[in-house]
Parts: sequence; structure tokens; C-alpha cells
Amino acid sequence: MSENNILKAENLTKRFKLSSRNTSNRLLTALDNVSIQLSTGETLGIAGESGCGKSTMAKILAGLLVPDSGSVFYNNTRLEDLDDKDKTHFRRKTQMIFQDPFSSLNPRMRIGDSISEPFAIAGMPKAVQQEELARIMTAVGLHVEVSSRFPDEFSGGQRQRIGIARALAAYPEILIADEPVSSLDISIQAQIINILLQLKLEFALSMMIVSHNLLVLRHICDRIIIMYLGTVVESGPASEVFINSRHPYTEALINAIPGLLASNLKTELLHDDLPSATSIPSGCRFHPRCRHAIERCRHEAPILVEDLNGHAVACHLVS
Ligand code: SF4
Repeated sequence: MSENNILKAENLTKRFKLSSRNTSNRLLTALDNVSIQLSTGETLGIAGESGCGKSTMAKILAGLLVPDSGSVFYNNTRLEDLDDKDKTHFRRKTQMIFQDPFSSLNPRMRIGDSISEPFAIAGMPKAVQQEELARIMTAVGLHVEVSSRFPDEFSGGQRQRIGIARALAAYPEILIADEPVSSLDISIQAQIINILLQLKLEFALSMMIVSHNLLVLRHICDRIIIMYLGTVVESGPASEVFINSRHPYTEALINAIPGLLASNLKTELLHDDLPSATSIPSGCRFHPRCRHAIERCRHEAPILVEDLNGHAVACHLVS
């Protein structure tokens, strides 16, 4: 393992039991033996359709979910091996931003108090709390004068800024954002993305961004991982994965971006819906949707093979 990895997941598997009457005893496979690394100072993007396991991965890395098997390492130490003090340190240093920031805000708490909560818990003097509140609110583009308002007085974009400010108030090293802009208007999306880029530099963050929007990830990330039905099918430097994608699924995702198909020589398109994660196809799990599938694909799962440039692909047809 690289000394440079601030966070690493090794062989993570996570299944959820479905409990409705019609689906008793069925297991949904969210992650199947997935390994990823986040280097210090890196921005890593995780992309894929809904149900590919990317949000489960984010929650496990943030310590909010426990995997069935596999391990997460923080600064080269397995989370299970951290003592109580170090676990508290990890939770403070690893903050998560959610798609719906409203759900993580107390509707009866003034947003200044919500953002300042970690300062109060840390026993910071009141005057310093006010200074830090102003600094962080300014960093996310909020006027400190609005700190006495309640969450329902803000727009979606402003609430996301509040959510980011709350995360920053814990002085994190790692920011994990799960679909941070997908519920926002296009114009607001760009503002939030630019704020994240600025904050990464200003607060020396390592970031992981989960999104189904590959264009957003290409703009903001150093490296991108493409997930499909609980596995990684392609990963590498963001521009390399985007411009020189090798996995048919990645090509289809790129070609699904409005306006890109005409200028893209690749013709891969996504047909059919994502198969259910309760009955994963045998062999290459993408084979029922892949127009290049050969007999071998139906019974043998491809291995993720990385080239010298750190570009990894799991496909029998890529050597
Ligand atoms: Fe398609 Fe086969 Fe490659 Fe899977 S292994 S992506 S089915 S060609």
C-alpha cells in the first residue's frame, strides 16, 4: 500500500437483505470485493448508474456503514484497529456531504448554531467561534449575517453551502460528497463545484465525489472510478478515462452525455435497464447489455488489469 494513501478500501463486500413479503431471503449485492485508494490531496470521482454501489462505497469509507467483509484503512491503519481516541479523530477528519443537505440540518436550529456545533463541542471560546463561523461561511459564499436564519429560509443551493460549511467546521482532511449537485439547477451546480475546488486548496482536503454525472467528475477530479453492479470496471486519470475510455460501459456512459455523441467517434450506447442487484449476471456482469460480448464473457468474470499509466480496465477484449 502506498504511503500516500490517506484512505483505502480493500476487498469490500456489502449485501443488504430485502425484507418485503415478495422478496424474502433475497440479497441485494451493493459491493462485491471492491478495492479503491484515495491519495492525500487527491480528488477521486466515483461514477456509475443508480444502484452500482457508489453511495454504499462512500458511506463505508466515511465509517457510516460496516462492510460484510474487507477493510478500510485510514492513514495505513485498519479502522477496526483504531483505539477509541483515534476513531473519534477519524470521524472528525472524515466528513460527508449529502445530496439533500436539508435532511442533515435540524430545522429548528439557526444555521449559525448548526455550523458552529463542532466548535462548541471542541470547547472553543465564544469569540473564536464567531471568527471561525464568519471565515467558514465566507469560504462557502454565505454572508455571516444570515447565520441567525433557519434552514427552511434558504434555497437548495444555499442549503448545500450550509452543508459544506458544517462539514468544514470539523476541520476535515477528507471530504466525501455523495451526489452533491444532482438535485440543483445547472447554474447552481457550477457554483457548488467551483466552491468545492476552491475549498480543496484552501483547506488542503482530499476529496471523493460520488456522481452519475461524468462531465462534473471530469471537471473536478484527478482520477475517476467507474462502477457497475457492485464492481469497478474501469479507473484511471480523469482525462484518460474520459478521452480514452476502454470499457464498453464507460463508453456508453460518455455517449449518454447530451451533446457529446456527435463529436465522439465511439458508438457504444446503453441498451436495456441495469439488471437487478439481487440477481447479478454470471461471468462479466455487463454481458447482457454489451454488444461486444463473446461466449467467454457469459461465464468468466474479467479481472481489473492496470497499465503503466494507472489506467485499469476489466474486460476480456482489452489487453
Ligand atoms: Fe463486454 Fe465481454 Fe468486455 Fe464484459 S468482458 S465488457 S461483456 S466484451
